[in-house]
Amino acid sequence: MADLSVFSTSYLEARAKFVDAARGAGATVYEYRHPTLKGPDGEPMCLDVAVAGSEDAERVLVAGSGTHGIEGYPGSAAQTAWLLGGGAQRLPKRTAMVFFHAHNPWGFAHKARGTEENVDLNRNFLDHAKPYPANPGYAEVHPIVTPEEWSDASVAGIFRGLDAYRQKVGEKAFSTAFNGGQYSHADGIYFGGQREQWATYSFREAVLKHVAHAKHAAIIDFHTGIGPWMEHIYLCFHKEGSPARERARTWWGERAVNLAGVTHKALADYQGVLIDGFAAMLPKAAVTCIVVEFGTLKREEVQRANMAGRWLRYCGAKQPALARKVHQEFCECFYPGDPKWRAAALEQSREILDRGIAGIGRV
Ligand SMILES: [Zn+2]
Repeated sequence: MADLSVFSTSYLEARAKFVDAARGAGATVYEYRHPTLKGPDGEPMCLDVAVAGSEDAERVLVAGSGTHGIEGYPGSAAQTAWLLGGGAQRLPKRTAMVFFHAHNPWGFAHKARGTEENVDLNRNFLDHAKPYPANPGYAEVHPIVTPEEWSDASVAGIFRGLDAYRQKVGEKAFSTAFNGGQYSHADGIYFGGQREQWATYSFREAVLKHVAHAKHAAIIDFHTGIGPWMEHIYLCFHKEGSPARERARTWWGERAVNLAGVTHKALADYQGVLIDGFAAMLPKAAVTCIVVEFGTLKREEVQRANMAGRWLRYCGAKQPALARKVHQEFCECFYPGDPKWRAAALEQSREILDRGIAGIGRV
């Protein structure tokens, strides 16, 4: 059985374990601290970066956690376990592993999906000087997914409404409306923001400092929620036939590009995704990007949890007892407590990281 002590119950605990493991592995640790924002226990909010290997390595693999706050707990455990497991001592020549810990520290610390401004960080990586992409479908979805009351009956009503909308517009248009990202409803779901988030800014600062020099750069962004229980799936957004897509296929296998295990009938047209922002910052490098999702519950339960997270933020304070129960269910959906699930996520993450390092070490 894997050592599950790398899993944490708070942001502070996860951060301390990560920083200790990084220092113990001989990595150099950097901190990107929010100037004023604090966590629920008054703790500072930081993106922490650990560089294992040479700071000016020409091949750099970034592995990040916590784009969606709560999902950072398994991602953090994966990072810490890899550092404790001696990965940093087995790096190929001219290759560095760079961990980004807690892309969205506020969401991580509060066990929420969004940032301090209810922004889905994975929809915020776009040019904020330009008009935001329109998502007219979301305006139709918004009243359905934002109930004042949270109960089995209200949730059943949500799904009836979503089913009717899906039948009207088809799977692809439904997915884009529902979770492609929207920039019009600040109290809605999958809100991409109306300005750059501090977390976006600090991620960009860290990429400039630790990655921009690389000839070959790659990123693995660890998430949870999509995919079968105790398994992982890959999301690769590189174009069919592109060298980047071929690298992903070579490093992680056919499943990295064929959507194996993804139960979505049609993927949305996503806007402002973090890994796309990463690639756009590195025009001179050969860049390979992948999202890894550790699967948890069924798709409908994950959708329910995302809407529950929105209800908790805007309506939960009026019903604290119910809010505690709903939040427990929310956490269980993105950070399962089952030791078997946690052991599987650790074991799989080690292989994913090792394959990424071996892959970029060979290019
Ligand atoms: Zn996620």
